[in-house]
Amino acid sequence: MSAICSGRRNDMDFKLESYDEMEKVREKIQECEGKHPQQVAYSTFHDALTQICYGCGKIRTTMVPRENWGKDVR
Ligand SMILES: [Zn+2]
Repeated sequence: MSAICSGRRNDMDFKLESYDEMEKVREKIQECEGKHPQQVAYSTFHDALTQICYGCGKIRTTMVPRENWGKDVR
């Protein structure tokens, strides 16, 4: 997770997309399913769903951006 949260670009040059609802990330996962190689991770700690799609070159996540960590965003 540190690679994602560091904000540094890697060789794949993924773009980070933030979503406010897990349902929207799930829709994207289903769109890519069978077409793109992808990884999906669920974080119980952050209660966040993250999709890494190598076909789209995107990371889609409901994870709160790091600058908001520790703030009361409820
Ligand atoms: Zn995709």
